[in-house]
Amino acid sequence: MIILKTAEEIEKMRKAGRVTAGMLDAVGRAVRPGITTEELDEIAADFLRGQGAKPSFLGFEGYPKTICTSVNEEVVHGIPGPRVLREGDIVSVDAGAIVDGYQGDAARTFAVGFIDPQAQKLIEVTEKAMYIGISQAKPGVHLGDVGYAIQQYVEAQGFGVVREYVGHGIGTEMHEDPPVPNYGRPGRGLRLRAGMCICIEPMVTAGDPAVRLLADGWTAVTQDGSWAAHFEHSLAILPEGAEILTQLT
Ligand code: MG
Repeated sequence: MIILKTAEEIEKMRKAGRVTAGMLDAVGRAVRPGITTEELDEIAADFLRGQGAKPSFLGFEGYPKTICTSVNEEVVHGIPGPRVLREGDIVSVDAGAIVDGYQGDAARTFAVGFIDPQAQKLIEVTEKAMYIGISQAKPGVHLGDVGYAIQQYVEAQGFGVVREYVGHGIGTEMHEDPPVPNYGRPGRGLRLRAGMCICIEPMVTAGDPAVRLLADGWTAVTQDGSWAAHFEHSLAILPEGAEILTQLT
């Protein structure tokens, strides 16, 4: 069931989105060689406490931490812990905040110190793929059009689009209908409507996009060991197009 949001609800989504963006900014400023993913998690948790916000992820289906930190060949849902980030790594940070009952959800991939050019290209292509999807998202457009635009761009760059994980609606729940795939066929799928709030979140791999789950039950890694990047914004679909909620304005 798709829940359309009123103007008042979208205003609450903006607040949750801004807190989510601030959390990612704080984490991103701290990413450097020598820091552990657990320390990044603590920075995110401290930021949310300071904002009077609650973490979306902590306790979600039993998830144990405030953020997800997915390093190199980890695609999504890596659990923060004692792992030390090293020069040349990339780390995808996915984070969500709840403010006044409404949710924000966003992700960015950060370079740890200097990274090789192929890793830099992977990050840039993934971020651009997200913005290509966002530019498509307006009332009357099919979700297949959004997914197709993302997929076409990513594959033309020689990279892969993960199929097992997709974007989603968002509101008082982190995951609402509809699913928002990063692949698709033009003219297929649900049509977007004003008042829908969705997350567009391409997960892109340098090699084959097939993933497998580690024994921790959360961390998804590429089957071929190739590196992956992930960008996500929460959006409100307005009559004139998509407004990005998870950014500082
Ligand atoms: Mg999401």
